[in-house]
Amino acid sequence: MFSKILIANRGEIALRILRACREMGIRTVAVHSTADSDAMHVRLADEAVCIGPASSRDSYLNVPAILSAATMTGADAIHPGYGFLSENAEFAETVEAHGMAFIGPTAEHIRMMGDKITAKTTMADLGVPLVPGSDGALADLDAARDVADKVGYPVLIKAAAGGGGRGMKVAHTADEIAEAWSVARTEALAAFGNDEVYLEKYLDRPRHIELQVMGDTHGQVVHFGERDCSLQRRHQKLLEEAGSPVITEEQRNQIGQTVTEALSRMGYRNAGTLEFLYQDGQFCFIEMNTRLQVEHPVTEMVCGVDLVREQILVAAGEKLSYRQEDITMRGHAIECRINAEDPLTFVPNPGTVTVFHAPGGLGVRMDSALFAGYKIPPYYDSMVAKLIVHAPTRAEAITRMKRALLECVVEGVKTVIPLHQKILDDPEFQAGDYTIHWLENFVARQQDA
Ligand code: ADP
Repeated sequence: MFSKILIANRGEIALRILRACREMGIRTVAVHSTADSDAMHVRLADEAVCIGPASSRDSYLNVPAILSAATMTGADAIHPGYGFLSENAEFAETVEAHGMAFIGPTAEHIRMMGDKITAKTTMADLGVPLVPGSDGALADLDAARDVADKVGYPVLIKAAAGGGGRGMKVAHTADEIAEAWSVARTEALAAFGNDEVYLEKYLDRPRHIELQVMGDTHGQVVHFGERDCSLQRRHQKLLEEAGSPVITEEQRNQIGQTVTEALSRMGYRNAGTLEFLYQDGQFCFIEMNTRLQVEHPVTEMVCGVDLVREQILVAAGEKLSYRQEDITMRGHAIECRINAEDPLTFVPNPGTVTVFHAPGGLGVRMDSALFAGYKIPPYYDSMVAKLIVHAPTRAEAITRMKRALLECVVEGVKTVIPLHQKILDDPEFQAGDYTIHWLENFVARQQDA
Protein backbone atom coordinates (compact mmCIF):
# COMPACT_ATOMS: atom_id res chain seq x y z
CA MET A 1 0.00 0.00 0.00
CA PHE A 2 1.09 3.58 -0.60
CA SER A 3 2.65 5.47 2.27
CA LYS A 4 2.14 8.98 0.89
CA ILE A 5 -0.33 10.40 -1.65
CA LEU A 6 -0.13 13.81 -3.29
CA ILE A 7 -3.56 15.32 -3.95
CA ALA A 8 -3.43 17.38 -7.14
CA ASN A 9 -6.58 19.37 -6.41
CA ARG A 10 -8.21 21.88 -4.06
CA GLY A 11 -11.48 22.58 -2.25
CA GLU A 12 -13.93 19.97 -1.06
CA ILE A 13 -12.57 17.17 -3.25
CA ALA A 14 -9.04 17.60 -1.87
CA LEU A 15 -10.55 17.19 1.61
CA ARG A 16 -12.58 14.20 0.50
CA ILE A 17 -9.45 12.40 -0.70
CA LEU A 18 -7.46 13.47 2.34
CA ARG A 19 -10.10 11.96 4.62
CA ALA A 20 -9.92 8.59 2.87
CA CYS A 21 -6.11 8.63 3.05
CA ARG A 22 -6.14 9.41 6.74
CA GLU A 23 -8.52 6.52 7.50
CA MET A 24 -6.20 4.23 5.52
CA GLY A 25 -3.11 5.42 7.41
CA ILE A 26 -1.64 7.10 4.32
CA ARG A 27 0.18 10.43 4.65
CA THR A 28 -0.99 13.30 2.44
CA VAL A 29 0.63 16.12 0.50
CA ALA A 30 -1.54 19.09 -0.47
CA VAL A 31 -0.55 21.35 -3.33
CA HIS A 32 -1.87 24.88 -3.59
CA SER A 33 -1.69 28.15 -5.47
CA THR A 34 -0.69 31.40 -3.74
CA ALA A 35 -4.43 32.25 -3.59
CA ASP A 36 -5.08 29.10 -1.51
CA SER A 37 -2.32 29.40 1.12
CA ASP A 38 -4.79 29.33 4.02
CA ALA A 39 -7.29 26.93 2.40
CA MET A 40 -8.64 24.03 4.44
CA HIS A 41 -6.96 21.33 2.33
CA VAL A 42 -3.60 22.98 3.02
CA ARG A 43 -4.34 23.15 6.75
CA LEU A 44 -5.44 19.55 7.07
CA ALA A 45 -2.78 17.80 4.96
CA ASP A 46 0.36 16.38 6.52
CA GLU A 47 2.49 18.46 4.16
CA ALA A 48 1.76 21.27 1.73
CA VAL A 49 3.65 22.65 -1.26
CA CYS A 50 2.93 25.90 -3.08
CA ILE A 51 2.95 25.17 -6.82
CA GLY A 52 2.38 28.58 -8.36
CA PRO A 53 0.28 31.72 -8.70
CA ALA A 54 -3.50 31.99 -8.54
CA SER A 55 -4.28 31.18 -12.17
CA SER A 56 -5.00 27.43 -12.50
CA ARG A 57 -2.90 27.28 -15.65
CA ASP A 58 0.14 28.17 -13.58
CA SER A 59 -0.70 26.10 -10.49
CA TYR A 60 -3.30 23.29 -10.47
CA LEU A 61 -2.58 22.60 -14.16
CA ASN A 62 1.18 23.08 -13.83
CA VAL A 63 2.46 19.55 -14.43
CA PRO A 64 6.21 20.18 -13.81
CA ALA A 65 5.44 21.98 -10.51
CA ILE A 66 3.14 19.17 -9.33
CA LEU A 67 5.66 16.49 -10.27
CA SER A 68 8.47 18.33 -8.46
CA ALA A 69 6.26 18.62 -5.38
CA ALA A 70 5.59 14.87 -5.52
CA THR A 71 9.25 13.98 -6.01
CA MET A 72 10.42 16.39 -3.34
CA THR A 73 8.02 15.06 -0.73
CA GLY A 74 8.52 11.41 -1.68
CA ALA A 75 4.90 10.74 -2.61
CA ASP A 76 4.31 7.33 -4.18
CA ALA A 77 0.96 8.11 -5.83
CA ILE A 78 -1.04 11.09 -7.11
CA HIS A 79 -4.81 11.47 -6.86
CA PRO A 80 -6.09 14.01 -9.39
CA GLY A 81 -9.66 14.44 -8.01
CA TYR A 82 -12.05 15.78 -10.66
CA GLY A 83 -11.48 18.63 -13.12
CA PHE A 84 -7.96 20.05 -13.52
CA LEU A 85 -5.61 17.21 -14.61
CA SER A 86 -7.96 14.31 -13.87
CA GLU A 87 -8.70 13.50 -17.52
CA ASN A 88 -5.32 14.44 -18.93
CA ALA A 89 -3.77 11.29 -20.43
CA GLU A 90 -0.33 12.86 -20.74
CA PHE A 91 -0.35 13.73 -17.06
CA ALA A 92 -1.24 10.15 -16.14
CA GLU A 93 1.60 8.91 -18.36
CA THR A 94 4.11 11.38 -16.93
CA VAL A 95 3.21 10.47 -13.35
CA GLU A 96 3.85 6.80 -14.11
CA ALA A 97 7.06 7.58 -16.01
CA HIS A 98 8.28 9.19 -12.78
CA GLY A 99 7.73 5.93 -10.92
CA MET A 100 4.54 6.99 -9.13
CA ALA A 101 1.04 5.55 -9.37
CA PHE A 102 -1.71 7.59 -11.02
CA ILE A 103 -4.92 6.96 -9.08
CA GLY A 104 -7.19 6.53 -12.08
CA PRO A 105 -7.47 4.53 -15.30
CA THR A 106 -4.68 3.94 -17.82
CA ALA A 107 -3.59 6.83 -20.04
CA GLU A 108 -4.82 4.80 -23.00
CA HIS A 109 -8.37 4.60 -21.62
CA ILE A 110 -8.41 8.27 -20.61
CA ARG A 111 -7.38 9.20 -24.16
CA MET A 112 -9.92 6.85 -25.73
CA MET A 113 -12.83 8.27 -23.76
CA GLY A 114 -11.60 11.88 -24.05
CA ASP A 115 -12.40 11.70 -27.74
CA LYS A 116 -16.17 11.34 -27.80
CA ILE A 117 -16.24 9.77 -31.24
CA THR A 118 -13.76 7.05 -30.26
CA ALA A 119 -15.68 6.62 -27.00
CA LYS A 120 -18.93 6.05 -28.88
CA THR A 121 -17.51 3.66 -31.46
CA THR A 122 -15.69 1.71 -28.75
CA MET A 123 -18.84 1.38 -26.65
CA ALA A 124 -20.97 0.47 -29.67
CA ASP A 125 -18.52 -2.31 -30.56
CA LEU A 126 -18.83 -3.57 -26.99
CA GLY A 127 -22.62 -3.74 -27.22
CA VAL A 128 -23.53 -0.54 -25.33
CA PRO A 129 -26.58 1.24 -26.86
CA LEU A 130 -26.00 4.74 -28.33
CA VAL A 131 -28.05 7.79 -29.30
CA PRO A 132 -28.78 7.35 -33.05
CA GLY A 133 -26.48 9.54 -35.15
CA SER A 134 -23.42 9.68 -37.38
CA ASP A 135 -20.86 6.87 -37.46
CA GLY A 136 -17.96 8.97 -36.31
CA ALA A 137 -16.89 12.43 -37.47
CA LEU A 138 -18.77 14.30 -40.18
CA ALA A 139 -16.68 14.97 -43.29
CA ASP A 140 -18.70 18.01 -44.40
CA LEU A 141 -22.06 19.76 -44.24
CA ASP A 142 -23.54 17.43 -46.86
CA ALA A 143 -22.68 14.43 -44.70
CA ALA A 144 -24.40 16.19 -41.76
CA ARG A 145 -27.53 16.75 -43.89
CA ASP A 146 -27.59 13.10 -44.95
CA VAL A 147 -27.38 11.76 -41.41
CA ALA A 148 -29.92 14.31 -40.15
CA ASP A 149 -32.39 13.22 -42.85
CA LYS A 150 -31.85 9.61 -41.85
CA VAL A 151 -32.30 10.01 -38.05
CA GLY A 152 -34.88 12.81 -38.35
CA TYR A 153 -34.90 16.35 -36.90
CA PRO A 154 -34.21 17.82 -34.39
CA VAL A 155 -30.51 16.95 -34.34
CA LEU A 156 -27.52 18.02 -32.29
CA ILE A 157 -24.07 18.78 -33.72
CA LYS A 158 -21.45 18.03 -31.07
CA ALA A 159 -17.70 18.55 -30.74
CA ALA A 160 -15.57 15.39 -30.69
CA ALA A 161 -13.35 17.01 -28.07
CA GLY A 162 -16.41 18.43 -26.21
CA GLY A 163 -16.83 19.07 -22.53
CA GLY A 164 -18.80 21.37 -20.26
CA GLY A 165 -21.59 21.63 -22.82
CA ARG A 166 -19.46 23.66 -25.26
CA GLY A 167 -19.37 23.09 -29.01
CA MET A 168 -22.94 21.78 -29.08
CA LYS A 169 -25.66 23.16 -31.33
CA VAL A 170 -29.25 22.04 -32.05
CA ALA A 171 -30.81 22.18 -35.51
CA HIS A 172 -34.59 21.89 -35.20
CA THR A 173 -35.18 21.75 -38.95
CA ALA A 174 -33.20 21.37 -42.18
CA ASP A 175 -33.11 25.18 -42.44
CA GLU A 176 -31.00 25.39 -39.32
CA ILE A 177 -28.41 22.76 -40.05
CA ALA A 178 -25.91 24.92 -41.95
CA GLU A 179 -25.79 27.41 -39.11
CA ALA A 180 -25.61 24.73 -36.37
CA TRP A 181 -22.78 23.07 -38.28
CA SER A 182 -20.72 26.24 -38.51
CA VAL A 183 -21.43 27.51 -34.97
CA ALA A 184 -20.58 24.14 -33.37
CA ARG A 185 -17.32 23.92 -35.36
CA THR A 186 -16.27 27.48 -34.56
CA GLU A 187 -17.02 26.98 -30.85
CA ALA A 188 -15.22 23.63 -30.82
CA LEU A 189 -12.15 25.11 -32.47
CA ALA A 190 -12.09 28.04 -30.04
CA ALA A 191 -12.64 25.90 -26.92
CA PHE A 192 -10.68 22.75 -27.74
CA GLY A 193 -8.46 23.58 -30.72
CA ASN A 194 -10.22 20.83 -32.67
CA ASP A 195 -13.18 21.42 -34.96
CA GLU A 196 -14.11 17.79 -35.53
CA VAL A 197 -17.86 17.33 -34.98
CA TYR A 198 -20.43 14.53 -35.04
CA LEU A 199 -24.20 14.39 -35.07
CA GLU A 200 -26.79 12.90 -32.74
CA LYS A 201 -30.54 12.81 -32.76
CA TYR A 202 -31.65 15.49 -30.31
CA LEU A 203 -33.80 13.80 -27.68
CA ASP A 204 -36.62 16.11 -26.61
CA ARG A 205 -37.36 14.84 -23.08
CA PRO A 206 -34.58 12.59 -21.81
CA ARG A 207 -33.26 12.12 -18.32
CA HIS A 208 -29.53 12.13 -17.65
CA ILE A 209 -28.77 8.83 -15.96
CA GLU A 210 -25.25 7.66 -15.24
CA LEU A 211 -23.73 4.44 -13.98
CA GLN A 212 -20.88 4.34 -11.48
CA VAL A 213 -18.35 1.64 -12.27
CA MET A 214 -15.07 0.50 -10.80
CA GLY A 215 -12.53 -2.01 -12.06
CA ASP A 216 -9.41 -3.57 -10.56
CA THR A 217 -6.27 -4.98 -12.18
CA HIS A 218 -7.41 -8.54 -11.47
CA GLY A 219 -10.09 -8.51 -14.17
CA GLN A 220 -13.04 -7.57 -11.99
CA VAL A 221 -15.44 -4.75 -12.90
CA VAL A 222 -18.49 -3.90 -10.78
CA HIS A 223 -21.16 -1.21 -10.94
CA PHE A 224 -22.70 0.70 -8.05
CA GLY A 225 -26.03 1.49 -9.66
CA GLU A 226 -27.22 4.71 -11.22
CA ARG A 227 -27.46 8.38 -10.40
CA ASP A 228 -30.08 10.69 -11.87
CA CYS A 229 -28.44 14.00 -12.78
CA SER A 230 -31.19 15.45 -14.95
CA LEU A 231 -31.41 18.69 -12.98
CA GLN A 232 -28.99 20.78 -15.01
CA ARG A 233 -28.62 24.35 -16.03
CA ARG A 234 -26.51 25.08 -19.11
CA HIS A 235 -25.43 21.43 -18.94
CA GLN A 236 -24.14 21.94 -15.40
CA LYS A 237 -25.57 19.58 -12.80
CA LEU A 238 -27.14 21.16 -9.71
CA LEU A 239 -28.95 18.41 -7.78
CA GLU A 240 -28.36 14.67 -8.10
CA GLU A 241 -30.10 11.58 -6.77
CA ALA A 242 -29.32 7.89 -6.29
CA GLY A 243 -31.20 5.93 -7.42
CA SER A 244 -33.19 7.43 -10.20
CA PRO A 245 -36.92 7.80 -9.45
CA VAL A 246 -37.71 6.12 -12.80
CA ILE A 247 -35.34 3.15 -12.98
CA THR A 248 -36.45 -0.27 -11.80
CA GLU A 249 -34.15 -2.83 -10.27
CA GLU A 250 -34.50 -4.97 -13.36
CA GLN A 251 -33.46 -2.10 -15.67
CA ARG A 252 -30.53 -1.31 -13.37
CA ASN A 253 -29.32 -4.89 -13.41
CA GLN A 254 -29.67 -5.11 -17.16
CA ILE A 255 -27.76 -1.93 -18.06
CA GLY A 256 -25.30 -2.69 -15.25
CA GLN A 257 -24.53 -6.06 -16.78
CA THR A 258 -24.09 -4.60 -20.28
CA VAL A 259 -21.71 -1.96 -18.96
CA THR A 260 -19.61 -4.16 -16.67
CA GLU A 261 -19.20 -6.74 -19.45
CA ALA A 262 -18.08 -4.02 -21.86
CA LEU A 263 -15.56 -2.58 -19.41
CA SER A 264 -14.19 -6.01 -18.45
CA ARG A 265 -13.51 -6.64 -22.11
CA MET A 266 -11.67 -3.31 -22.28
CA GLY A 267 -9.67 -4.20 -19.16
CA TYR A 268 -10.82 -0.97 -17.52
CA ARG A 269 -9.38 -0.17 -14.10
CA ASN A 270 -10.32 2.33 -11.37
CA ALA A 271 -13.40 4.58 -11.22
CA GLY A 272 -15.46 5.57 -14.22
CA THR A 273 -18.92 6.84 -15.06
CA LEU A 274 -20.94 6.05 -18.14
CA GLU A 275 -23.40 8.80 -18.95
CA PHE A 276 -26.65 7.97 -20.70
CA LEU A 277 -29.67 9.84 -21.92
CA TYR A 278 -32.73 7.84 -20.97
CA GLN A 279 -36.02 8.26 -22.79
CA ASP A 280 -38.98 5.94 -23.47
CA GLY A 281 -37.32 3.11 -21.57
CA GLN A 282 -34.13 3.27 -23.68
CA PHE A 283 -30.61 4.00 -22.43
CA CYS A 284 -28.45 5.88 -24.96
CA PHE A 285 -24.75 6.26 -24.13
CA ILE A 286 -23.37 9.80 -24.58
CA GLU A 287 -19.98 9.77 -22.89
CA MET A 288 -17.73 8.22 -20.27
CA ASN A 289 -15.89 10.14 -17.57
CA THR A 290 -12.66 8.42 -16.58
CA ARG A 291 -12.47 9.82 -13.06
CA LEU A 292 -14.29 10.34 -9.78
CA GLN A 293 -17.37 12.54 -10.26
CA VAL A 294 -18.54 15.47 -8.14
CA GLU A 295 -21.75 13.58 -7.36
CA HIS A 296 -20.09 10.32 -6.22
CA PRO A 297 -21.30 10.77 -2.59
CA VAL A 298 -24.93 9.89 -3.40
CA THR A 299 -23.71 6.51 -4.61
CA GLU A 300 -21.54 6.09 -1.53
CA MET A 301 -24.51 6.77 0.73
CA VAL A 302 -26.92 4.31 -0.88
CA CYS A 303 -24.33 1.58 -1.46
CA GLY A 304 -22.48 2.08 1.85
CA VAL A 305 -19.07 2.18 0.15
CA ASP A 306 -16.06 4.49 0.14
CA LEU A 307 -15.29 4.98 -3.55
CA VAL A 308 -12.06 6.91 -2.93
CA ARG A 309 -10.76 4.10 -0.75
CA GLU A 310 -11.55 1.62 -3.54
CA GLN A 311 -9.74 3.87 -6.04
CA ILE A 312 -6.65 3.87 -3.84
CA LEU A 313 -6.77 0.09 -3.25
CA VAL A 314 -7.11 -0.62 -6.96
CA ALA A 315 -4.28 1.80 -7.87
CA ALA A 316 -2.07 -0.06 -5.38
CA GLY A 317 -2.79 -3.29 -7.25
CA GLU A 318 -5.21 -4.75 -4.72
CA LYS A 319 -8.52 -6.40 -5.46
CA LEU A 320 -11.82 -4.53 -5.21
CA SER A 321 -13.43 -5.07 -1.79
CA TYR A 322 -16.78 -5.91 -3.41
CA ARG A 323 -18.16 -8.44 -5.80
CA GLN A 324 -21.27 -7.46 -7.74
CA GLU A 325 -23.50 -9.59 -5.51
CA ASP A 326 -22.27 -7.69 -2.41
CA ILE A 327 -23.53 -4.37 -3.76
CA THR A 328 -27.09 -3.24 -3.07
CA MET A 329 -28.67 0.19 -3.07
CA ARG A 330 -30.38 0.90 0.23
CA GLY A 331 -32.71 3.87 0.64
CA HIS A 332 -32.35 7.09 -1.29
CA ALA A 333 -29.72 9.85 -1.40
CA ILE A 334 -29.83 13.42 -2.72
CA GLU A 335 -26.99 15.88 -3.23
CA CYS A 336 -27.40 19.65 -3.51
CA ARG A 337 -24.43 21.49 -4.95
CA ILE A 338 -23.96 24.71 -3.04
CA ASN A 339 -22.42 27.27 -5.37
CA ALA A 340 -21.42 30.77 -4.33
CA GLU A 341 -23.63 32.29 -7.00
CA ASP A 342 -26.72 34.43 -7.25
CA PRO A 343 -29.63 31.95 -6.98
CA LEU A 344 -31.53 33.56 -9.87
CA THR A 345 -28.84 34.71 -12.30
CA PHE A 346 -26.08 32.22 -11.35
CA VAL A 347 -23.49 34.99 -11.52
CA PRO A 348 -20.56 33.86 -9.32
CA ASN A 349 -20.30 35.71 -6.05
CA PRO A 350 -16.85 35.15 -4.52
CA GLY A 351 -15.93 36.95 -1.30
CA THR A 352 -15.45 36.41 2.41
CA VAL A 353 -17.68 33.94 4.25
CA THR A 354 -18.47 35.75 7.48
CA VAL A 355 -20.58 33.07 9.16
CA PHE A 356 -20.60 29.37 8.39
CA HIS A 357 -22.57 26.60 10.03
CA ALA A 358 -22.70 23.11 8.56
CA PRO A 359 -25.91 21.11 9.04
CA GLY A 360 -25.75 17.75 10.76
CA GLY A 361 -27.85 15.01 12.30
CA LEU A 362 -28.98 11.61 11.10
CA GLY A 363 -28.29 10.90 7.44
CA VAL A 364 -26.65 14.27 6.70
CA ARG A 365 -23.23 14.70 5.12
CA MET A 366 -21.55 17.98 4.26
CA ASP A 367 -18.52 17.84 1.94
CA SER A 368 -17.03 21.31 2.03
CA ALA A 369 -13.79 23.17 2.58
CA LEU A 370 -15.56 26.28 3.92
CA PHE A 371 -14.94 27.91 7.29
CA ALA A 372 -15.93 31.23 8.82
CA GLY A 373 -13.53 33.92 7.65
CA TYR A 374 -12.62 31.99 4.48
CA LYS A 375 -12.20 34.17 1.44
CA ILE A 376 -13.61 32.35 -1.62
CA PRO A 377 -11.12 33.19 -4.38
CA PRO A 378 -12.55 34.36 -7.72
CA TYR A 379 -10.23 32.15 -9.78
CA TYR A 380 -11.84 28.73 -9.45
CA ASP A 381 -15.14 26.91 -9.63
CA SER A 382 -17.95 28.51 -7.63
CA MET A 383 -19.05 25.23 -6.00
CA VAL A 384 -18.09 25.59 -2.33
CA ALA A 385 -20.01 22.76 -0.68
CA LYS A 386 -22.02 19.63 -1.36
CA LEU A 387 -24.82 18.75 0.99
CA ILE A 388 -25.81 15.10 0.84
CA VAL A 389 -28.64 13.35 2.67
CA HIS A 390 -29.59 9.71 2.95
CA ALA A 391 -32.96 8.34 4.10
CA PRO A 392 -35.01 5.13 3.74
CA THR A 393 -37.26 6.56 0.99
CA ARG A 394 -37.08 9.38 -1.57
CA ALA A 395 -39.87 11.31 0.20
CA GLU A 396 -37.96 11.15 3.49
CA ALA A 397 -34.74 12.19 1.75
CA ILE A 398 -36.51 15.28 0.39
CA THR A 399 -37.82 16.19 3.87
CA ARG A 400 -34.38 15.62 5.34
CA MET A 401 -32.70 17.78 2.69
CA LYS A 402 -35.15 20.62 3.34
CA ARG A 403 -34.39 20.37 7.05
CA ALA A 404 -30.62 20.30 6.46
CA LEU A 405 -30.73 23.29 4.09
CA LEU A 406 -32.61 25.28 6.74
CA GLU A 407 -29.80 24.58 9.19
CA CYS A 408 -27.07 25.46 6.71
CA VAL A 409 -25.72 28.97 7.24
CA VAL A 410 -23.37 30.61 4.74
CA GLU A 411 -23.23 34.39 5.19
CA GLY A 412 -21.20 37.01 3.36
CA VAL A 413 -21.72 35.56 -0.11
CA LYS A 414 -24.82 34.63 -2.09
CA THR A 415 -25.47 30.92 -2.59
CA VAL A 416 -27.97 28.82 -4.52
CA ILE A 417 -29.52 27.47 -1.28
CA PRO A 418 -32.80 29.43 -1.82
CA LEU A 419 -33.16 27.85 -5.27
CA HIS A 420 -32.66 24.35 -3.83
CA GLN A 421 -35.41 25.04 -1.26
CA LYS A 422 -37.80 25.96 -4.07
CA ILE A 423 -36.91 22.90 -6.15
CA LEU A 424 -37.50 20.60 -3.17
CA ASP A 425 -40.92 22.22 -2.57
CA ASP A 426 -42.03 21.75 -6.16
CA PRO A 427 -44.73 19.08 -6.72
CA GLU A 428 -43.22 17.94 -10.05
CA PHE A 429 -39.82 17.46 -8.48
CA GLN A 430 -41.43 15.67 -5.56
CA ALA A 431 -43.17 13.33 -8.00
CA GLY A 432 -39.83 12.64 -9.71
CA ASP A 433 -41.41 13.97 -12.88
CA TYR A 434 -38.59 15.84 -14.65
CA THR A 435 -36.29 15.74 -17.69
CA ILE A 436 -32.98 17.49 -18.48
CA HIS A 437 -34.99 20.57 -19.54
CA TRP A 438 -37.00 20.88 -16.33
CA LEU A 439 -34.57 23.04 -14.35
CA GLU A 440 -34.07 25.64 -17.10
CA ASN A 441 -37.85 26.11 -17.29
CA PHE A 442 -38.18 26.18 -13.51
CA VAL A 443 -35.47 28.84 -13.22
CA ALA A 444 -37.10 30.91 -15.99
CA ARG A 445 -40.39 30.83 -14.03
CA GLN A 446 -38.55 31.98 -10.87
CA GLN A 447 -36.90 34.81 -12.79
CA ASP A 448 -40.27 35.97 -14.14
CA ALA A 449 -41.99 35.80 -10.75
P1 ADP B 1 -20.33 17.61 -22.27
O1 ADP B 1 -19.17 16.67 -22.24
O2 ADP B 1 -20.02 18.89 -23.01
O3 ADP B 1 -20.95 17.82 -20.94
P2 ADP B 1 -22.38 15.64 -23.04
O4 ADP B 1 -22.31 14.82 -24.28
O5 ADP B 1 -22.09 14.96 -21.75
O6 ADP B 1 -21.42 16.92 -23.23
O7 ADP B 1 -23.79 16.31 -22.93
C1 ADP B 1 -24.08 17.24 -21.91
C2 ADP B 1 -25.56 17.43 -21.78
O8 ADP B 1 -26.14 17.89 -23.00
C3 ADP B 1 -26.32 16.14 -21.43
O9 ADP B 1 -26.33 15.86 -20.06
C4 ADP B 1 -27.69 16.51 -21.95
O10 ADP B 1 -28.32 17.38 -21.03
C5 ADP B 1 -27.41 17.30 -23.23
N1 ADP B 1 -27.35 16.43 -24.42
C6 ADP B 1 -26.25 15.80 -24.92
N2 ADP B 1 -26.56 15.04 -26.00
C7 ADP B 1 -27.89 15.19 -26.20
C8 ADP B 1 -28.84 14.66 -27.18
N3 ADP B 1 -28.46 13.83 -28.16
N4 ADP B 1 -30.14 15.04 -27.05
C9 ADP B 1 -30.53 15.89 -26.07
N5 ADP B 1 -29.70 16.42 -25.14
C10 ADP B 1 -28.40 16.08 -25.21
